[in-house]
Amino acid sequence: MDDCIIIGAGPAGLTAAIYLARFHLRIRLFDCGSSRAAQIPCTRNHAGFPEGISGKELLVRMLTQAEKYGAVRELAEVESLRLLDNGFGVRVGEREHAARTVLLATGVVNNRPAMPREVHDEALARGLLRYCPICDGYEVTDKRIGVIGTGSHGVAEALFLRGYSADVTLIAPEAHDLSEADSAKLDEAGIARIDGPCGSYAIEEELLAFDTARGRLAFDSVYPALGSVIRSGLAVQVGARADANGCLEVDDHQRTSVPGLFAAGDVARGLDQISHAMGEAGVAATTIRNLLAEQKPIRR
Ligand SMILES: Cc1cc2nc3c(=O)[nH]c(=O)nc-3n(C[C@H](O)[C@H](O)[C@H](O)COP(=O)(O)OP(=O)(O)OC[C@H]3O[C@@H](n4cnc5c(N)ncnc54)[C@H](O)[C@@H]3O)c2cc1C
Repeated sequence: MDDCIIIGAGPAGLTAAIYLARFHLRIRLFDCGSSRAAQIPCTRNHAGFPEGISGKELLVRMLTQAEKYGAVRELAEVESLRLLDNGFGVRVGEREHAARTVLLATGVVNNRPAMPREVHDEALARGLLRYCPICDGYEVTDKRIGVIGTGSHGVAEALFLRGYSADVTLIAPEAHDLSEADSAKLDEAGIARIDGPCGSYAIEEELLAFDTARGRLAFDSVYPALGSVIRSGLAVQVGARADANGCLEVDDHQRTSVPGLFAAGDVARGLDQISHAMGEAGVAATTIRNLLAEQKPIRR
């Protein structure tokens, strides 16, 4: 039986793997290769890299560090989780692996605007499409910014980006659905709003252009504010509590409501940032180590 199975090898899972391997614990690390960090062309807010670093390069460095201490990333999707008397059964294909503890670090998936994949990926690589104002709002300072969204989530994103530029437009994917209070906030901040439907996205003269109810518009950068799918299903399967969006509830040691099941990174409620994912994983890994040591002393 493994001491811990980590599900997910993004910044959270890899940080946990480094810690747990260095605690001399017996671990497994499953990953299905879809880290949000791999989509980052160049992160400039992650401390320690003054020139920035691509998400893929950061992941390679973290994996190399984890491997140095014996961790192995197994490319496989965990399909289900179940409670055993003394731990968890983790199903991967035909096999079930048993572990005393599990750390879920499966992240989230952003909902995307309806655009062809090649346009999406090219726009993302060129910074014409962005998903994280906290991360890269600085890069669009004084640029022409479009936010695709509506309701309180779209309004909050547009207001946040108003801190970087006076030229912010909130475009509804279909038609706007705004409360009076939200409309007043947009008016006060000088944020234009336009109805969709949005469509026919294309890169035109270094701008991302698309159709709206007011004709074709083009922006230096577009931020979709369309929410995300939280990959917490495995934990919910065994009874872990999640909020209405699916984010796992954890205490300040990253313990879910199910004993022995931990969560770190975007899948847990908190700030969706690399630094936060890493910090949570360090806390989770240390708590896991101490929990296992209470059950059976860890000695050389
Ligand atoms: C375009 C973009 C730019 C960003 N820029 C920045 C930035 O500049 N700075 C910053 O701090 N943050 C940035 N972020 C956010 C950052 O990427 C995330 O906060 C971070 O990746 C979260 O790490 P994580 O380990 O929780 O999840 P992820 O990195 O998403 O990793 C989760 C992993 O779990 C795996 N997984 C999921 N389900 C299963 C399963 N059932 N079985 C096996 N494996 C599974 C996935 O394959 C994935 O590898 C950006 C995000 C995006 C999309």
